[in-house]
Amino acid sequence: ATPIGLLAGTGRASQMGILISGPQVLEDSRGVNTVVLDKTGTVTKGEMAVSDVIALDGHTADDVLVAAAAVELGSEHPIAAAIVEAGKLKNELPEVTEFSSTAGGGVVGTIWLANGQQRVAAGRSSFIVEHTGALTAADEQALADAEAAGATAVWVAIDGQLAGIVSLQDQIKDTSAQAIAELKDMGITPMLLTGDNESVARQVAAEVGINPDHVFAGVRPEDKVDKVKQLQSAGKTVAMAGDGVNDAPALAQADLGIAMGSGTDVAREAADITVMGSSLTQVSQSLQLSRKTLSIIR
Ligand code: ADP
Ligand code: MG
Repeated sequence: ATPIGLLAGTGRASQMGILISGPQVLEDSRGVNTVVLDKTGTVTKGEMAVSDVIALDGHTADDVLVAAAAVELGSEHPIAAAIVEAGKLKNELPEVTEFSSTAGGGVVGTIWLANGQQRVAAGRSSFIVEHTGALTAADEQALADAEAAGATAVWVAIDGQLAGIVSLQDQIKDTSAQAIAELKDMGITPMLLTGDNESVARQVAAEVGINPDHVFAGVRPEDKVDKVKQLQSAGKTVAMAGDGVNDAPALAQADLGIAMGSGTDVAREAADITVMGSSLTQVSQSLQLSRKTLSIIR
């Protein structure tokens, strides 16, 4: 039988826009001492905007952006939406064939221009290097500069050569710093987990108050779940908060999975708790509520 206090806690939670998959969840969340936060869409708004385009080796910035936008049309990533929007402002997007998409990596496709076709790849560094082979020192420097500026840098390769870099900026949610302060007040250690580059991750962490030692950047989707397992093996009781398809296995693995209501269905299905809307303070409130409810029962 479910103790009446837990049911009351569940009811109180739903009034606060916190949906709990079952009364047991409140009990499970009691011992949580570590909260792993996905970056994009969880700590940040996940509303990316193109902030800069750099063209390399005889390409123009517009050509790079339009080529990237054409292949990104087939992706549902927030990065893709931003690049498509910016590319459409420059030109009509060419047709794409032989498209493929790699989660946490990027996209590739053949674009058809008036004067011929091009094989275009857009994505993270390790993904693009598979298409280009080793980079020149000058290219490496351009990329390092783009990432050091704290932007999410999407590398664009055309016909097996690095052609440019599209930089994107996201915004931190207004409530993220407050939520992280609340977690710390509860004695919970917040950590940041992201597929994005180290420089962006550290900048976001610094702005919201996450210790730089607790930042895990450049993590592939399939490795997010391993990070949670590692923390559990080290004796931590882990809550994971995320919104993306990529976060679902880690949400399921965590002692407590919390999905942002603004996120994907896949994340919600894997989670124990779904918070309505998008505020990170609902994540700290969920944990506060379970502690209060359980202390009333005991
Ligand atoms: P996050 O953990 O921040 O939600 P993902 O795991 O979805 O990020 O992606 C990790 C990285 O892979 C991104 O920061 C980006 O560099 C690259 N990436 C993923 N999808 C795409 C895409 N459609 N286009 C370009 N780059 C992508
Ligand atoms: Mg995300």
